[in-house]
Amino acid sequence: MQTKNSTMMKRDLEVIWHPCTQMKDHETLPLIPIKSGKGVYLYDFEDKKYIDAISSWWVNLFGHANSYINAKVKAQIDTLEHVLLAGFTHEPAIELAHKLVDITPAALQKVFYVDNGSSAVEAALKMSYHYHLNRGEQKSIFLSLTNSYHGETIGALSVGDVALYKETYAPLLIANMQVPVPANQSEQAAKEALAFLEKVLCERANEISAFILEPLIQGAGGMHMYHPHYLSGARLLTKKYNVHLIADEIMTGFGRTGKMFACEHANISPDFMTLSKGLTGGYLPLSVVMTTEDIYQAFYCDYNEYKAFLHSHSYTGNPLACSAALATLELFEKTDTIKKNEKKSSYIKQATQKFNHLSNVKEVRQQGMVTAIELQGYEIAERVGLKLYEYALTQGVLLRPLGHIIYFMPPYIISYEEIDTMIDVAYKGIKGHL
Ligand SMILES: *Cc1c(COP(=O)(O)O)cnc(C)c1O
Repeated sequence: MQTKNSTMMKRDLEVIWHPCTQMKDHETLPLIPIKSGKGVYLYDFEDKKYIDAISSWWVNLFGHANSYINAKVKAQIDTLEHVLLAGFTHEPAIELAHKLVDITPAALQKVFYVDNGSSAVEAALKMSYHYHLNRGEQKSIFLSLTNSYHGETIGALSVGDVALYKETYAPLLIANMQVPVPANQSEQAAKEALAFLEKVLCERANEISAFILEPLIQGAGGMHMYHPHYLSGARLLTKKYNVHLIADEIMTGFGRTGKMFACEHANISPDFMTLSKGLTGGYLPLSVVMTTEDIYQAFYCDYNEYKAFLHSHSYTGNPLACSAALATLELFEKTDTIKKNEKKSSYIKQATQKFNHLSNVKEVRQQGMVTAIELQGYEIAERVGLKLYEYALTQGVLLRPLGHIIYFMPPYIISYEEIDTMIDVAYKGIKGHL
């Protein structure tokens, strides 16, 4: 029988090559055409609803079709949809940049607009390299953590360490070194990892431009979490050895870790911070590289000294995206989100303790509004995450495990009842359907 869903799926597969997907899977795995979204729910073409427990790949903060953000974007679209940002400017870009300078760590004073996460990482790497060059130093290696993820473009992929995405392209990548990420959330593990960092910096700092990390939570690396002590230590060491610290808060930013920015847990101010994903509340592609006055000044001189950062993207600082971002930041204030999330996150913590008693669960870990359940005892080829994904969909919950790691990263407007449903479905799935 032809349903609306199956018709849409057929038309889709005729022409669309989907991201991060082995397309052949869709010979058996249904693709889910979404007709609309409201709040925490996505609706397909047969009006079946799904709780978006992963915030549509970690971008959504205040629900789908949020009336406040909708109104602001609608107002902007009738005023100015886009203008180039070189030689021109516009109010949403100006106001947003001021707002970001106000709420991010103190040393971050300048905002460079980009339009997606990977491109923000690329821009930060180039800026760091170029800064040293402008100061008369050639430093062409980047340092990152094992198990890290910073995006999929060549530069961003180079500093990442998820083999599944990276290995194939190894011959194309730029020079990169890795130091071990702390093994777990203990302070002891952070101290051990810092010892490695110091050793590498001590030996190679004159070649290393920047150390890039995902503060506190490595997202695509399976929601691996570590102690804030590592951040404070890394800040001290990078300063000591004249290496930039790039905090890639593309996933951790905007409240996911329990504070507005993960860097706040260690009270540090990095040399660069990259932001995207939640920045627009999950509405439109936008990203920024935030940096310091010192770095900005290294590029500031007469044109003929050729030190300017001549990097751009067509949709840099798009006004619609900036207006969605401004509305999102207003919602944080209006609804006292960070405070309210404290309660929600401790509720989730309690509600997920029961997973610890399942024999196929290795660990339950949490940092703020991100909770991960790591399974054990499965072979990769069993694709246990895919099984759970399929089961949860039948139960009206969108989970998208990272291999054998199930995680919850819901929009902040999720209700306590919806939290219960989300957790119950995962629990039943892990207990009885794998
Ligand atoms: C998602 C992500 C990126 C890449 O952002 P895209 O917009 O998908 O290119 C980079 N760094 C981190 C930490 C991310 O989670």
